[in-house]
Formats: sequence, C-alpha cells, structure tokens
Amino acid sequence: MIPTVIPPATHSVGVLAIQGNWAAHARAVSALGHQPVLVKAVEHLTGITALLLPGGESSTMLHFLLSEDLLGPLTGFCRSGRPVFGTCAGAILLASGVTAPAQRSLGVLDMTVERNAYGRQRESFITRLADPGGDLDALEAVFIRAPVIRRTGPGIEVLLRHGETPVLVRSGPVWAATFHPEMTADSRVLAQVLST
Ligand code: GLN
Repeated sequence: MIPTVIPPATHSVGVLAIQGNWAAHARAVSALGHQPVLVKAVEHLTGITALLLPGGESSTMLHFLLSEDLLGPLTGFCRSGRPVFGTCAGAILLASGVTAPAQRSLGVLDMTVERNAYGRQRESFITRLADPGGDLDALEAVFIRAPVIRRTGPGIEVLLRHGETPVLVRSGPVWAATFHPEMTADSRVLAQVLST
C-alpha cells in the first residue's frame, strides 16, 4: 500500500545570502544531499523547509533585514518548528539579547551574546571541542571574531562548550553555534540540525 504522507527525502534549505559566509553554507548543504536556496528577499522563504543564518557581520545583516522588512518574516520562520541554524553572526541574530554594542535581533533563542568577546589577541582560533561519549566528540571548531554566549535561559540546551562557555546550543529545532562548522569538512553538526 502507498503511504498517504511521504516525508521529503531532502530539505530545501534557505541560506540567508545578504553578506558573509553564505556560499560555504550552500556548499555544505549540497554536500549532504539537500537543496540550498539563497534567501535575499521575503519571497525566497516560500517553500523552504529549513533555514541557515551564516556568519559575517551581524550589524550589516541587521541593517539589510530592517530596510527590506525581512526581520518579521525571518522571525516567523524561526518560530514555525522547522530547523534553523545560526552560526556566529547568525547566532547573534537569533539571540534575545545582544551586547557590545546592543543591537536588535530576531529574539528566538533565550540567551545573551556579547559580540567580539574573545578580544584582540584571540580574534580567531581553531580548536577541537570535547563531547565525551557524545556524537560530536573532537569536533574541529573555527572561531572568527566570535561572540561569547554570556547567559542562557532555562529552555536552552547547551550541547558543546569551550572551557566554561557554551558554543553550540539549541532550543528544539533552533540551533546556534559561535563557531563555523561550514568551514571544515566535518558535517556532523549540520546533519544533526537538519534531522531535528
Ligand atoms: N564579529 C561578527 C559580529 O559581531 C561575527 C563574526 C562572524 O560571524 N564570524 O557580527
């Protein structure tokens, strides 16, 4: 018998393509066998089944989102129950609170982030993150002028830390990383996001 509901074999993954590292995200989506869809205007949200907010400069992205009236539609998508992943600047856009300096955001993850918080000497670094006994152990993590997650609310699950600091978090299907999984060949994080 043919089932009445056939789950999609692949996601149509929207990649916010205003500025920043969107091309690497699109390549990572393709490498996992899903279909990337570049999101530059509200109509590009139609039909996508997941959304990635890349790294880059969150203030520049925010300026564009406000001028193009995209902030509300993106917030709506992030609250729709479909997988969402913000990396670095994308994590800043998802946070409910942003400091250094304060700026508006989508506010869909109950956490406060401090921009550029690793300071000058450690603006960028690569490390391996430990996940003892977990699926993400020894994950190579690239931090580029990364924010620090200073506070997480009760609904936020911390999946990976660097020292004491949360660096990969989720609330249901909405995920955020302060590092850049799309810059390594290791697809474990994106695969997990797209399976939520
Ligand atoms: N420093 C950037 C910001 O504050 C984020 C850096 C990144 O996305 N790699 O928006």
